[in-house]
Amino acid sequence: MAFELIQKIKNKELQIQEIVQFYLDRIKKTDNLIHSFVHISEEKALSEAKQKDKDLKNGKSIGKLYGLPLAVKDLICIKNSPTTCCSKILEGYYPPYNATVIERLIEKEGAISIGRTNMDEFAMGSSTENSCYGPTYNPWNLEYVPGGSSGGSGSSVASGQVIFSLGSDTGGSIRCPASYCGVVGLKPTYGRVSRYGLVSYANSLDQIGPLSRCVRDCALLLEIMAGFDPLDSTTVNVEVDNYTNELDKSIEGKTLGIPKEFFSEGLETDVKNKVNEGIKKLESLGARTVEVSFPHLEYTIPTYYLIAMSEASSNLERYDGLRYGKMSDNLDGSVFDVFSRTRGERFGPEVRRRIILGTYALSAGYYDMFYIKALKVRTLIKNDFQNAFKQCDVIVSPTMPTTAFKIGDLVDDPLQMYLMDVLTCPVNLAGLPALSIPCGFDSKNLPIGFQIIGNYFEENLILNIGHLLEKELNLYRKLAPVNGGK
Ligand code: GLN
Repeated sequence: MAFELIQKIKNKELQIQEIVQFYLDRIKKTDNLIHSFVHISEEKALSEAKQKDKDLKNGKSIGKLYGLPLAVKDLICIKNSPTTCCSKILEGYYPPYNATVIERLIEKEGAISIGRTNMDEFAMGSSTENSCYGPTYNPWNLEYVPGGSSGGSGSSVASGQVIFSLGSDTGGSIRCPASYCGVVGLKPTYGRVSRYGLVSYANSLDQIGPLSRCVRDCALLLEIMAGFDPLDSTTVNVEVDNYTNELDKSIEGKTLGIPKEFFSEGLETDVKNKVNEGIKKLESLGARTVEVSFPHLEYTIPTYYLIAMSEASSNLERYDGLRYGKMSDNLDGSVFDVFSRTRGERFGPEVRRRIILGTYALSAGYYDMFYIKALKVRTLIKNDFQNAFKQCDVIVSPTMPTTAFKIGDLVDDPLQMYLMDVLTCPVNLAGLPALSIPCGFDSKNLPIGFQIIGNYFEENLILNIGHLLEKELNLYRKLAPVNGGK
């Protein structure tokens, strides 16, 4: 855990170089099996570690993260480091600037970027199978997916390749891999964390967030990342709480809303049972429960996918081979060919599908019927949450309706894959914060995620509840075996 390592560095029991070397070795030993990383910055990480050990010896402040290794999803810009969104269209792209989260975590507070993690191309997917570099494998059982789209960020933390990682969540992409890989993942309130330097998929839904082995580490990262940023006009100027200080507060008298629609059809029995056990634990800590209702939950998937694909079609328009993106190598000379060949060859099939569907939904004549209608339903879903929060402090549910599925099982059935997001997407449509923490295993020994959804900017409370539940369940010291199932 980060907070323990920080203590050891402070007490001079461990050097930063030893820590970084340990994790690099672990990556070398395991990544041929899991494939969490698409790029490893070995030399740079080691030289930074050396410098930090020196600075520390000379009494210089090296920041709150003390040189701890961090893995960064391949769609967050790091200056002069390849950032490809796991797409062939961004092959060879080295951003000339840092994302704000990188400025805060690395430049200011001293974390060390150890590599870029695998993901579904442009964050479109729930399994990390849509990556131009090939899939990531679930470290609990290599025949299964790690979830997506931040699959490499989830698997790297679960298997102990890094201490913590960054992901992005548009419809569940932090919480889904957190759930499938058995780690903690937080999607902050929309506007809590700057998106400057995050390559957009659907910008009214995207948020960057941390993945870690325990809630305390997530709280630490959020504390540093969060807050107003003049470079992102959608960040909100609301004071950042001291998340790590309030983790142990009593939750006596807090009310948990149980949305009955989140526990219906399609939910696996093991998932339901473990989540219910988690709720019982929270009751034993003094929380009360109340049933809340989400009459519009059934419209979540069409609403989310219409909005996400429409925004994606517009955001990805810039990759034409001329302004942005790597041009096709097989051009015949016409201008039209530059655009169509570049986009046809360099985007993968899922990205092409979404661009086409999104463009259709935005086209004249269909705009009102699809896109505008989806925006209206989005408001109804938001209202469902606001009505629920009149009766409760947080909402609890499973993160995903099932545990991880097998590699290859859903990749040719996009609709079935989309339906997996039914419990995570509503949170993004409403812009709320949500945490996923491990709450047990199913009969196949695959992890199950417990979701805690908070009201706007109440990350404090969901981290507090998550931390107390994590302590009760005491699962967080377990590392994924990496060779399980093979
Ligand atoms: N699975 C969802 C999608 O494919 C969510 C992805 C995400 O959050 N980036 O759109």
